[in-house]
Amino acid sequence: MTDQPHILNKNRRDERQYDCDVLVIGGGINGCGIARELCGHGLSVCLVEMRDLASGTSSWSSKLVHGGLRYLEHYAFRLVREALAERQTLMDMAPHLIEAKRFILPFRAHMRPKWMLRAGLFLYDHLDMFAAKTSSTQLKGARQISLRSSAQGQPLKSDFKTGFEYGDCFVDDTRLTIINAQAAAELGATILTRKKINYAEPCDTGWIAGGDDFRITAKSVVNATGPWADRLLSEVKLASNRPHIRLVQGSHIIVDSLFDHSQPYILQHHDNRIVFALPYLDKYTLLGTTDTDFDGDPADAEITASETEYILEVANSYFKKQLCSEDVIATYSGVRPLYDDGTSEAQTANRDYRLEWHQSHAGWLNIFGGKLTTYRCLSVDVAQMICTRLSHTPNRDWKSDSPLPGGDITSTMPDYYQQLAHIYPGLDQDMLKRIAKNYGSRAPLLLGDAASQKDLGTDFGAGLTKAEVDYLMRHEWAEAAEDILWRRTKLGYDFTDEQVKNLNTFMQNKIVEAE
Ligand code: FAD
Repeated sequence: MTDQPHILNKNRRDERQYDCDVLVIGGGINGCGIARELCGHGLSVCLVEMRDLASGTSSWSSKLVHGGLRYLEHYAFRLVREALAERQTLMDMAPHLIEAKRFILPFRAHMRPKWMLRAGLFLYDHLDMFAAKTSSTQLKGARQISLRSSAQGQPLKSDFKTGFEYGDCFVDDTRLTIINAQAAAELGATILTRKKINYAEPCDTGWIAGGDDFRITAKSVVNATGPWADRLLSEVKLASNRPHIRLVQGSHIIVDSLFDHSQPYILQHHDNRIVFALPYLDKYTLLGTTDTDFDGDPADAEITASETEYILEVANSYFKKQLCSEDVIATYSGVRPLYDDGTSEAQTANRDYRLEWHQSHAGWLNIFGGKLTTYRCLSVDVAQMICTRLSHTPNRDWKSDSPLPGGDITSTMPDYYQQLAHIYPGLDQDMLKRIAKNYGSRAPLLLGDAASQKDLGTDFGAGLTKAEVDYLMRHEWAEAAEDILWRRTKLGYDFTDEQVKNLNTFMQNKIVEAE
């Protein structure tokens, strides 16, 4: 099918029209971060996402805000330094979603010698020293530890005697994306979800772009479609003769907890690849990831039998508890949109980002590559380029590192739980803890003056109440059960099919009533 019908649609009388300075295409971490940054500088922004926010790669990462210890091996010092410095900034912006963790690297004979690992970790500890911001003691002080008698050694096979410990962060990638969209909307952005950009054409004032029932005029366009970046360029007939990104699939598996403490493990396999074993949702271990070249629509990525086998093999070579494919509770796969630097190995392909104006079409900016960790740095760079291009004076009062929605918590997270428990003694305390973690300082907005659990309305299952569903539909663009169960929360693991159906019916009725 050609895109001709979409062009005809441009003249439909019932299509919605939007006019803005910048059209951002893609509601992943980069698109949402860019939208917030541009709005902060006083530009009007329209962000268009073809499915749900964060439904692309930004939900399927290893969920680490990290410098990337293994990138030191590829001498990616600039990337590692920028990412290391960014950890503290992001923790300060969203302390409810980003948590410092002490990672354990069990030592094995096939690895580099201990002195070299110590030197690498020393570098990792100090590369960001010029940022001078890192105040979390959890992130500093890499050290050698004994695994013989420590709790960290308990779940491991008995031949592991020594390990190393260093700091990095774990993040709720999906929620981080959504609160960036929320921040952008609160600064004036129009956020359109479930709308696909099918066409884009240059015009006198910049660009006209749109889809089946909407049309947007903008002075500039940012292509932040991640792994779909080349595909979008082809669809809107702006493709050049070579692809810009290399699609690399990475998969994870989820199993029952392999250990009962909260420290993640970084496991190096014989082939030098890394697999993380991360404590997940209090009762699971998240294991991954892989690096496999991918060809096709990124939405169709699915774990292969050999990826599952590979992850299980690595885990089984470290942990006492031996896993087989029947132990896998869930899997997910995502596609990295890596800038194509011509590297032969998927694993060693560059993780840095490239921002490129379209060669022959003015005002169209492509984002290629990047990491969750560096999305804010990327957004700052994009805003600078757009402000220059549009001769727009940047807002000097804008603070890119100001707290994200829910992130303005002045106490530690445990103290914040205590405060909420004091205010809401009649509510289920496990639910309250989850709400505090998910929504940070916005929790009272959702809970209102509820004195007991029944004041929050129908319980759809696993402590998901009507009050929370209402909040997510009103403030976070949730439209279907899966948006809530797999992205805005992870309650999908605890829901039965019947409960999913009931939630969907409730949400659909609410949408119909509102129309
Ligand atoms: P996406 O999140 O994919 O967003 C692009 C969006 O564009 C999608 O939502 C899509 O629906 C939308 N879109 C596409 N075409 C259109 C259209 N025509 N109209 C409207 N919308 C459209 N980084 C880290 O820092 N730490 C990690 O631990 C980490 N682990 C990773 C593990 C794996 C397995 C993978 C795959 C990646 C990992 N990354 C990690 C990298 C990070 O996840 C990605 O770099 C980042 O999420 C990419 O975000 P994005 O916004 O560019 O793309």
